[in-house]
Amino acid sequence: DDELGIEIERPKIGFADVGGMEALKQEIRVKIIYPMEHPEVYEAYGKKVGGGILMYGPPGCGKTYLARATAGEIKASFVSVGIDDVLDMWMGQSERKLHQLFQHARDNAPCVLFFDEVDALGGRRSDMQSGAARQLINQFLAELDGAEHSNEGVLVLAATNAPWHVDGAFRRPGRFDRVLFVPPPDEPARADILRIQCAGKPTRDIDYARLAKRAAKYSGADLKAVLDLAIEAKLTEAIQSGAPPQPILGRDLERAIKQHKPTTQE
Ligand code: ATP
Repeated sequence: DDELGIEIERPKIGFADVGGMEALKQEIRVKIIYPMEHPEVYEAYGKKVGGGILMYGPPGCGKTYLARATAGEIKASFVSVGIDDVLDMWMGQSERKLHQLFQHARDNAPCVLFFDEVDALGGRRSDMQSGAARQLINQFLAELDGAEHSNEGVLVLAATNAPWHVDGAFRRPGRFDRVLFVPPPDEPARADILRIQCAGKPTRDIDYARLAKRAAKYSGADLKAVLDLAIEAKLTEAIQSGAPPQPILGRDLERAIKQHKPTTQE
């Protein structure tokens, strides 16, 4: 959408493309996918449908990726909004734009609406403190509550690296009443992530479990960077030698792991 400066995606990835995170996927199913698909069952138990999930955790560990995969999983459209970025872009008309954004999601339902850096709504910069920030938060909460317009088919996910900066009003029942930690991937998850990222690429002699062990403390984003490095080396090799492209080997990935240092600390 031109006016909003935000595009609608149709993600092709689903939960199968997300390594590890089984508990998180299950939470998302129960908390937001099932209610959307079977509202009558929830109503039968007097359970109100709505609200969202707030994810927190170190950068590069898949919050955005999981949100995108959630949309793909249920063939919904996907809108990703970096609060910090849009606040600058929407300067002076944030509330109106925020409303337009939710309308946009409603018009494109089913839609996963993802807010990154949602803590920035509460004002990260000094000029955003106080009155203006409060108004913006209230607008956000009104939209989230579906006060004026039903949010049927709109699934709201949000992420932050700083959950303690997220306004308390967000956490009330029916809003972001589930706060989920997205941890750095453990060893089996890292093996999974590497396997997923190598899928569809020419590979040979790769022991994923062994690589995962070598890549302790690597985030999903780090593992992606490792694969990119290995591929780059292969490309250069192929082009310089004039030989046909060779498959990526386990040892190519091991070399790349040594070249790329992990960015997360535990
Ligand atoms: P940030 O807080 O910086 O936005 P994030 O937690 O949202 O970080 P993503 O941007 O989702 O991290 O992850 C970066 C990239 O790492 C993804 O695009 C994806 O390629 C890869 N990745 C991360 N986690 C996984 C995972 N569990 N399975 C497969 N790929 C992953």
